[in-house]
Amino acid sequence: MKKKENNELTYKLKSFWETATKNEIKKAFDFSEKYTKFLDLCKTERETVVFLENELINRGYKSTEKNTEQKKIYKIFRNKTAAFAIIGKRPVSEGFNLIVSHIDSPRIDLKQRPLHEDNELKMSIIKTHYYGGIRKYQWVSTPLALHGFVVKKDGEAVNVCIGENSDDPVFIIPDLLPHLAQDQRSKKLDEAIDASKLNVVFSSIPYPDEDIKETVKYNALYLLNKRYGITETDLLSAELQFVPAGMSRDAGIDKSFIMGYGQDDKVCAYTSMQALFDCDPADLDRTAIVYFADKEEIGSEGNTGAKSSFILDFVSDLMEVNGEKNDSISLRKAFINSQILSADVNAAINPNYPAVHEKDNAVHIGYGVSLTKFTGSRGKSGSNDANAEFMAKIARIFNEQKVNWQIGELGKVDQGGGGTIAKFMAELGAEVIDCGPGVLGMHSLYELTSKADVFSTYKAYKSFYQKA
Ligand code: MN
Ligand code: MN
Repeated sequence: MKKKENNELTYKLKSFWETATKNEIKKAFDFSEKYTKFLDLCKTERETVVFLENELINRGYKSTEKNTEQKKIYKIFRNKTAAFAIIGKRPVSEGFNLIVSHIDSPRIDLKQRPLHEDNELKMSIIKTHYYGGIRKYQWVSTPLALHGFVVKKDGEAVNVCIGENSDDPVFIIPDLLPHLAQDQRSKKLDEAIDASKLNVVFSSIPYPDEDIKETVKYNALYLLNKRYGITETDLLSAELQFVPAGMSRDAGIDKSFIMGYGQDDKVCAYTSMQALFDCDPADLDRTAIVYFADKEEIGSEGNTGAKSSFILDFVSDLMEVNGEKNDSISLRKAFINSQILSADVNAAINPNYPAVHEKDNAVHIGYGVSLTKFTGSRGKSGSNDANAEFMAKIARIFNEQKVNWQIGELGKVDQGGGGTIAKFMAELGAEVIDCGPGVLGMHSLYELTSKADVFSTYKAYKSFYQKA
C-alpha cells in the first residue's frame, strides 16, 4: 500500500508557536496586553459587570429595560450576572449562538461579623469563610487586597477596594513558622491549614479613648468609617472578599505566559466579550449572545448563577425586541435550535505533575484553545458530553478559520474531575460543548495561561459567532 501523502491518516497535535505566522504571534502578544488590564480591573463578579457595562455603553448597546428597537442589546441582573447580544439577520427563534463563561473566582470571603479583637494581643483580625475550591495553604503568607460592596443600613451602597494602589496597605494571613510546625508538618495537606486559621491580620493601633472597651477594633472601625462612611452594623449586609493583591504579569523569559488571579474564568469572559465586540453585525446570520454567569465556583446556584432563569429571561427580551413571539413554547424552541459554547478553562498538563493526566487526551499549553467533549468524574458523572455531530461542526469551523485547537479531557479517569456550566445549558435543549484555554495552577492565586491559547480562544469564539 502506498503511504498516504502528508500522513493524512494520523492526527498530529500542533503547537501555536511552531505553526503561527510572525504576524499572528504579534497579534497574540498585543491581545494579551488588553486582557491583562481587564484582569487587573475585574477581580470580582461585580467589578466585571461594572467594566462590561461601561464597554457596552461606549459601544452603543442599549439595556433591555430601555424599550428599544436596537439590534445591540444588554441586560444586567443584580449587578452580578450579565448578557449582551447582537440580533442577527435570522429570527432569534431559529436559534442563536451563545457563549457562556463565569465571572466569579475562588477567593476568601469575609464573615458577616468579621472584625474581632484579640484582647491579650491587642490586635484586630478578620474572620473569613472561603468561597469555591481554594487550596487553603496557598492563601497564607501572601499579600491580599480587600474588595467588595457594602449596603449600609440606610440602603446606600459603597464599593470597597483596599490594597491595589501602591500607597494602600495590603493584608496577610500569617503562616506558622517552620520552627514550631512540628505537629502541622505531619498533617495531610488538606488538613494542615484549617479554615478557622484563615484569619487576616487587620490592625494593632488602639483608639485613644479609655472609655472604649475594644480600642484596637474600634480604631479599625474608625479608619473604615473615615474611608467609606461605614459602621460595624453595615458589615452585616456586606459582600467583602480578600483576593490576591497586585497586578497580573507576563511570565517566562520569553514572556509567552500570563500570570494572574481569576483567569478561571475571566479569560473566557474577556475573549468572548472581545470576540463579539469585534464582529460586524452585518456578518451575523444568527443572533450572537455573550453570557457572564456568577456563582459557578459554588455550583452555579442562586439567582445570578447559571441554573437561574436569567438567560431565559434575556432571550425572551431579545425575541420581544425583535418583534417575535416570546411565549414559553417559542422560547423553548429557540433554545432547542441554538448552539452554545460553555466557555471555561481546562487543566493543562503541569510539568511537575504529568501523572494526573493522560497525555494523549489532555490539554497541552500553547497548543491552542481546547474543545472538551465531556467533563465529569467517576464515569463522566455530571457531564454534558457533547454530541459528535456538534463537535465535528465546531472543529470544522475552527479548521477553516485556522484556529489552533486541541481536544482536552480534564485529567486521568478516576483521578478526580470537575464540571462546568455546560450541563445546565444543555438542559434547555441546545447543542453545547465546552471550549476554552488550558491553565496551569487552576484555582491558585496566580494562574498561568499561554498568550497563544488566550489569542486562539478569542479567534475560536469569533469564528463561532460568525460561522456556526
Ligand atoms: Mn471555571
Ligand atoms: Mn473554577
